Amino acid sequence: MRQREGRDGLDRALERLDGAPYGRYKGLVGPWKLPGGLTVELIRAQADPFAPPARVAVRVPGERAAFPRDLWDSPVRRRALAGYVVRRAAREAAPERALRVDAGGQEVLDRSSCAVDAADGSVTLRLGVALPGQGRRIEGRAARRLLCDVLPRVAERALCHAASDADAAREFVATVEDSAALRDALPGLGLVAFVADGALLPRRTGADDRPADGADVVPFTAPDALRVTVQLPHAGPVTGTGVPEGVTLIVGSGFHGKSTLLRALETGVRDHEPGDGRERVAARADTVKIRAEDGRSVTRVDVHAFVDRLPQGSDTRDFSTPNASGSTSQAASLCEAVEAGARVLLIDEDTAATNLMIRDARMRALVSKEHEPLTPLVDTVRSLHRDHGVSTVLVMGGSGDYLEVADRVLMMDAYRLSDVTERARRVAAVPTGRRAEAESFPGVVHRSPDPASLDPTARGRPRVRARGRDQLVLGEHEVDVRAVEQLADAQQVVGVGLALDLLVRRGHLDGRRSLAEALDLLDRDLAGPEGVAALLAVRDEDFAVPRRFEVAAALNRVRGLKVRR
Ligand code: ADP
Ligand code: MG
Repeated sequence: MRQREGRDGLDRALERLDGAPYGRYKGLVGPWKLPGGLTVELIRAQADPFAPPARVAVRVPGERAAFPRDLWDSPVRRRALAGYVVRRAAREAAPERALRVDAGGQEVLDRSSCAVDAADGSVTLRLGVALPGQGRRIEGRAARRLLCDVLPRVAERALCHAASDADAAREFVATVEDSAALRDALPGLGLVAFVADGALLPRRTGADDRPADGADVVPFTAPDALRVTVQLPHAGPVTGTGVPEGVTLIVGSGFHGKSTLLRALETGVRDHEPGDGRERVAARADTVKIRAEDGRSVTRVDVHAFVDRLPQGSDTRDFSTPNASGSTSQAASLCEAVEAGARVLLIDEDTAATNLMIRDARMRALVSKEHEPLTPLVDTVRSLHRDHGVSTVLVMGGSGDYLEVADRVLMMDAYRLSDVTERARRVAAVPTGRRAEAESFPGVVHRSPDPASLDPTARGRPRVRARGRDQLVLGEHEVDVRAVEQLADAQQVVGVGLALDLLVRRGHLDGRRSLAEALDLLDRDLAGPEGVAALLAVRDEDFAVPRRFEVAAALNRVRGLKVRR
């Protein structure tokens, strides 16, 4: 590694550039040694003052960072410590508008913005820096202050143990490690999710993810029938609600907290920082939220379990459309999730297509099966579990049809959960005349995406960008990901784009391998020692590492996707 040091360091170089044409920042690309063992590396310079900020990394060597080894001696602990460090760095850097540190929200994800090295405990912060300019000229003194004074001070205060709050760092790491251990314990306990007693599920507002405050917030408590105690590495025994495998129905009147519970389970696939309220809410890692999304495109999905005999006679065993309806979009999303390996599905009546969920006895009498192309989920949801090992947690306050097929019926009443399975059985024993229209879920047909149809380049250059949390720009494709609800934030949308690029680049998608097999290879890359670095090699920018399910969901929404079956 080329390193320039001594008195003629970065500070002098920047001062010398004062007043020079802006483009000459490029000449500084590379690593620079600063006093105290710090390294500042200009990874990518800015072309002009109005371009996206330059990319800079600052690295503090292990002996200087000096975090106790037990805060970083496993992948989970390193992710947690990096999460703790990057939050402090973002706070320290906040007064400087030119420094852009991506700390994310309350979820603790593997992010490119901060990493702790497994070998030596060194800490690297990667950030955007708007390099100072006056018109098209370099402001050398301002740049010197930013990179040689402010940035080292941020590193000193945030990336070093000496300046950090030792107890807070330890609590952060313990919280994340407990959460990850809880999630890992679920399959062995026969559970799909767990909500600890005392968890605070409601959020402050629809646009503010902090926990709701005030005297009227009801902490979660377990109903007797579902009470489980789990042993966690730091917290010890923790008691709460275990949601068992199978078909679980959540009923209750409107505004009683059903959707809030389901949303907590949705984000339970990730760990939360201390103070979030959902630190001890966990869902199995292979949990996928399914919803209706009319207008999305669908490419060659076998949806005949749900949709048959469409008006134009299109083949629903090999179904494509540029413009799905509510029901066909939800059917496709469900089949795609199972194809990608989901073993737990979450569905909320608020965002589901009613005609895909139910058809009651009277409607069955009026519109005969011969004319109705849809088989509602109520007829196949048992088979999904029995024959395919796919559990479902379903919020449904408006129809009793699911009472017959649910293994468990839970009721939310004024934010309190109770088990009403026995009562539901008695109610369901009174016949409604409804007859199932399907015996079983037939399983999914695997598809092999054609990498050429996913080209991540535009005019010969790689292009991966997020438009907020809503859209992924991949090459010439604009992919609408608004309905992919478990995406954490805009940086994770970027992570999805980079992962798709990686799938193509590494040949994991080769036109023959199935999507599920290619995702296995991606998981191996991202979960292995390479981790974040695999995506950093595609492009060094702010991103969060995505799950395979969101990568698949984005791929499935690419218009013009081509697949073989
Ligand atoms: P439902 O899906 O049953 O109609 P929601 O989950 O949408 O109900 O919740 C309705 C309202 O109640 C929301 O404003 C939510 O923030 C609030 N809420 C949910 N859970 C709690 C709780 N445990 N304590 C206080 N308020 C809550
Ligand atoms: Mg609701």
